[in-house]
Amino acid sequence: MAVPQNKITKSRRNMRRAHDALVADNPAECSNCGELKRPHHVCGACGHYADREVVAQATDIDLDDDAA
Ligand SMILES: [Zn+2]
Repeated sequence: MAVPQNKITKSRRNMRRAHDALVADNPAECSNCGELKRPHHVCGACGHYADREVVAQATDIDLDDDAA
């Protein structure tokens, strides 16, 4: 098993971790519904991307037509 040859001091460990902080997303308003959404992603609220619907929403589907 590989074993570290030298102790990593708290200082050196903390210096390494100085760059590990997570950065917040930069949400943008959906141009269709105004909900905040991740940039370059389909809107989770209305399923629109680039001003057209690309994901049908559950409320838009009439499930009664499919009943056997
Ligand atoms: Zn939307």
